[in-house]
Amino acid sequence: MSISRDDVLRWMELFAAAVAEHRAELVALDTAIGDGDHGTNMDRGMRKALERLGASEQADAGAALKTVAMALISSVGGAAGPLYGTLFLQMGSALAGNPEIELADYAQAWRKGLEGVQARGKAQPGDKTMVDALIPGVEALERASDLSDGLRAAAQAAETGMKATIPLVARKGRASYLGERSRDHQDPGATSTYYLFEAAAAALAG
Ligand SMILES: [Mg+2]
Repeated sequence: MSISRDDVLRWMELFAAAVAEHRAELVALDTAIGDGDHGTNMDRGMRKALERLGASEQADAGAALKTVAMALISSVGGAAGPLYGTLFLQMGSALAGNPEIELADYAQAWRKGLEGVQARGKAQPGDKTMVDALIPGVEALERASDLSDGLRAAAQAAETGMKATIPLVARKGRASYLGERSRDHQDPGATSTYYLFEAAAAALAG
């Protein structure tokens, strides 16, 4: 089993749909410990991304992910645009020219994306950021021996990582200004990252 360009397009459609469906939830989470724009920003960015994906033929999965990256970078302010933009740009570079993406290719692309996000945002595990959902998701994919099982395991691991941000005190981003008062809130970036893994499982697990 492998992942095609059309699979990736379906993945991005499902992610955009999840972000739209959970927009109010993401806004509420970000209102509690940030500036409240995460849901509206990601929704606007993914709408723009789908628009651009539909506007021209995407050569392959890598090209499609780069298109998403550029749409997010140009249309989403704050931290989320550059961080998600970096994630998709690194993934797109890793997958460019690959018409049949295998589990190992896909896991490696996620690893490159994670490295890009950490290089850009400087977040470490436990800082209460999207990285806390990204790392367990990527590691689950890397441990997997089967694409479908790996995708489901990654979504589950990302969900666990997302929930584990609740008791954390934020050390990065706007939430870190709150210090102890950031405790007992789920991180909005880790939440949208969980939706990205969940969309991948729904679109690609077959
Ligand atoms: Mg915000």
